[in-house]
Amino acid sequence: MGLYRDTGVVLRTIRLGEADRIVTFVTEGRGKVRAVAKGVRKTKSKFGGRLEPTSHVRLLLYEGRELDIVTQADTIDHFRTIREDLDRLGRATSLLEAVDQVAQEREANPRLYQMLVGALRALAARDSPLLVAAFFWKLLALDGAEPVLLRCAACGSFSDLVAFDMVEGGVLCRGCRRGGPISPEALALVRRILGGGLTDALAEPASPVTHEVETLATRSLETHLERRLRSLRLLG
Ligand SMILES: [Zn+2]
Repeated sequence: MGLYRDTGVVLRTIRLGEADRIVTFVTEGRGKVRAVAKGVRKTKSKFGGRLEPTSHVRLLLYEGRELDIVTQADTIDHFRTIREDLDRLGRATSLLEAVDQVAQEREANPRLYQMLVGALRALAARDSPLLVAAFFWKLLALDGAEPVLLRCAACGSFSDLVAFDMVEGGVLCRGCRRGGPISPEALALVRRILGGGLTDALAEPASPVTHEVETLATRSLETHLERRLRSLRLLG
């Protein structure tokens, strides 16, 4: 136990007593960290407004048994353009909630941290209807659940791919179909997101296809997280 430095993004905060908060961070070096920020709710707090959700901060923490203690927090980025825009703030909140569910406490996952910082920067620079969906698909891939998109996940057929089911592992042909339908346009867009065409995909204007891709991404991430939670319970 002792002091350590890390960088992190604030995922959420909850009140603790009169003046304190418990802040949940995703950090570069230690995965999810929950730490007490003392006096943070006082007007003259030394932390100012630096520990709000989406804040990207450089931290000095004191390691505790259950909760760490925030000793120092310096701003790397406030993401002001996100916080001042309700639509973007809504999207950022979806990113933070998803990371909160995927990140493990005190288990380093630098790629997850970098993905979140990258997505927040992209969102700050430009609002994109596909940002959250793209992040969810990337998150599935990062968490070892990249969907099969090129051929039927059940029989391997390359043609007539019409359905999508996360439990089966991806896209399905007419003969094997389960789960919900997927249009050829939506399938093409998900392939672009996961196949190196992300920047290009993020420039897509809102359309029924981007909406379909977003709905699919949300449902797929939910299915994945439920299954993971169940398997963790079985292990526990
Ligand atoms: Zn099939």
